[in-house]
Amino acid sequence: MTTQETIDLFDKYVIANYPRLPRVIVKGQGCYMFDADGSKILDMFPGWAVSAIGHCHPKVVEAIRSQAGRLLHIDNTFYSEPQGKLARLLSERAFGGKCFFCNSGAEANEAALKLARLHTSQQKYKFITAEGSFHGRTFATLTATAQPKHHEGLLPLLPGFVYVPFNDIAALESVFSDEVAAVMVEPIQGEGGINIATEDYLQAIRRLCDENGALMILDEVTTGIGRTGKWFGYQHFGVEPDIMTMAKALGGGVAIGAMMAKEEIAASLVPGKHASTFGGNALACAAAVATIEAIEEENLLENAAQLGQYTKDKLGQLKQKHHIIDHVRGIGLMIGVQLTSPGAEIVDKCLEKGLRINCTNDTVLRFMPPMIVTKSQIDQAVDILDNILTE
Ligand SMILES: *Cc1c(COP(=O)(O)O)cnc(C)c1O
Repeated sequence: MTTQETIDLFDKYVIANYPRLPRVIVKGQGCYMFDADGSKILDMFPGWAVSAIGHCHPKVVEAIRSQAGRLLHIDNTFYSEPQGKLARLLSERAFGGKCFFCNSGAEANEAALKLARLHTSQQKYKFITAEGSFHGRTFATLTATAQPKHHEGLLPLLPGFVYVPFNDIAALESVFSDEVAAVMVEPIQGEGGINIATEDYLQAIRRLCDENGALMILDEVTTGIGRTGKWFGYQHFGVEPDIMTMAKALGGGVAIGAMMAKEEIAASLVPGKHASTFGGNALACAAAVATIEAIEEENLLENAAQLGQYTKDKLGQLKQKHHIIDHVRGIGLMIGVQLTSPGAEIVDKCLEKGLRINCTNDTVLRFMPPMIVTKSQIDQAVDILDNILTE
């Protein structure tokens, strides 16, 4: 099929809810993707951070092949080995909690919100979330997403949600009460523009939750599974959440989400209260097990930490040359370049030159390279950006 033939199919048969770039991607390999016209694209935003150990990592592909030949799916009426193994791997790398599996970030957050309501008392119905957050597109997670632009046309939303400015401890204290079931935040806001939580802020959330019998939920859908150079974002901040969600990088490219909760809280999710037909299926869990093993075998946490610093430094050097760059921020391989004017055109021009990055919140260029990225690939990406900014 030609590129145009594929686009025609979409025009006729696929709902146009995404602004799509006019490329048909037919292959992915490591830090590169290839389109139907034969272009090779250096991918610094692989699948919106899903393909975090690179496209089609051989270990993940092999695990999928092998699992697919034995058992694709078995419903949660039964036990299956990959789900149990995956839960142990995650628990041991986090705070020793128990897992519930689903298929996406929004579903993981839905599960977290429901568990918080189920675990706390009836009078506790409020959720506090932060402005600039992104928690998903289902009604509850959309309501949790404290950005009016995402709410337009969809009101009224779920009751009980209270929004506060991110990183503002006084604001948090002023809305806290014994009616709060949980606070949910991202350790680093992604879609909101790579806004890093301060250690004080996360610790204040922990303290206020403890004082008020509320739960601390961290949305680690993007920060989880190594992107920041540690398994989970919270591990940079000296706090532990009660509930944590993850998804994007977890399956190495396969759809899977997970919620982890401390054991005594997890106990409130009794049979009948929540479920997911596809959640924890053998194929997705086998892919996730392989992803975690690959991260360990190839020291990718260390690579994410080192190459993240390298990328930040390189991008920071561009600031001297290009006044459009205000500053660079991020942890590990979750990096934002704050511009002084909108960046959408820069993203398009980068793609023309064979580099994929992203722009969020109008003026923040996002670099989220695969954790297998090399220095020379970073150099190449920064050179392309440098050339485009010079033009
Ligand atoms: C992507 C994202 C979500 C939503 O995940 P989906 O898989 O698209 O439902 C939720 N929270 C954060 C922090 C995300 O980055």
